[in-house]
Amino acid sequence: MIHHNTPIASSENGLVDLFARSISYLRLSLTDRCNLRCRYCVTEEEANGCLARLAHDELLSYEELLRVARVAVAMGITKVRLTGGEPLVRRNVMGFIRDLTRIKGLDDVRITTNGVLLERYGRELYEAGVTKVNISLDSFKPERVAAITGVDCFNQVWRGVETVLGLGFSPVKLNMVAMRHLNDDELADFALLSRRLPVQVRFIEFMPIGGSSRWNADTYIGTDEIMARIAALGELIPMEKERNDGPAKVYRLGADAVGTLGFISPISHHFCSRCNRLRLTSAGGLRSCLLHDQEIDLRAVLRDGFDDSALRQAMLTAIRNKPERHHLDEQRRSGSDCHGRMSRIGG
Ligand code: SAM
Repeated sequence: MIHHNTPIASSENGLVDLFARSISYLRLSLTDRCNLRCRYCVTEEEANGCLARLAHDELLSYEELLRVARVAVAMGITKVRLTGGEPLVRRNVMGFIRDLTRIKGLDDVRITTNGVLLERYGRELYEAGVTKVNISLDSFKPERVAAITGVDCFNQVWRGVETVLGLGFSPVKLNMVAMRHLNDDELADFALLSRRLPVQVRFIEFMPIGGSSRWNADTYIGTDEIMARIAALGELIPMEKERNDGPAKVYRLGADAVGTLGFISPISHHFCSRCNRLRLTSAGGLRSCLLHDQEIDLRAVLRDGFDDSALRQAMLTAIRNKPERHHLDEQRRSGSDCHGRMSRIGG
């Protein structure tokens, strides 16, 4: 239902958009740089080493990011996720994270990482108050991980997973992008891991975004098929939705499973009506939809000497313009895919 008259409020009830969605979640892409080159995330040229990276002064500085976060939290944002690129490769990232987690009113700071640097940074993250982590891992086969990411890093990532489990991070979510002929023969292995480890294994539909040359109708696997294949392993018991679950539909594979399974279906069953997110790209573009290229240039607002009320106005405009839903299907049919790069927007 469209509530054209719903005011966008910045009150004790928080931020509400034109479609009555409560906007409480900000994703910050700290850098467009990454220590991996996942073939499904980057373009063919990038995979082959031809990288057009932002210059240092094109990235938002830590001071600028903190200013945006402070204003956003004062407006009603309660949860921030750090992403990238790979957030942990940015220089002095831990100092920034400690400053971020000290912002009054911001109690929920999380991170999405490829896990390569988690063994090194896990403890510092935990001590800074970042105790919820999503780790991207698309295979358990070291040679396959190397082929997908361009780096022989499986063992390093796995030590990162063990590190955060040992430190007591909760939840620990493992994100697997399911792709036919690339890793779908491992769906069962991923699902069965949730029976013995306290993790949420999340199966994410492959999205045609950012010039990924690997996406096509054949590599894409919808959640219905993924679930049917996993259901052959045992009973999928639906779980009550928890605050931490985000857009995932969550199940347990058998009543005695220690962990859970999450299914995320941006394509087949989009969750736009529940979307509570704003995103800030590493170049300072404020986006209200991952799959819609419209951005507000917050970097210009930050650098042109405007005060915080201009930042607030820019955020309200982004919320006001938040599309009711993404239009990937229509865009694909008309040949105008979403062009934003995952590495800049943050997945
Ligand atoms: N470097 C961090 C990481 O690997 O988690 C954060 C950034 S990465 C862009 C965030 C997530 O986006 C990863 O889980 C990755 O698998 C996912 N991703 C990238 N391209 C995707 C695509 N075309 N479809 C679905 N997920 C994608």
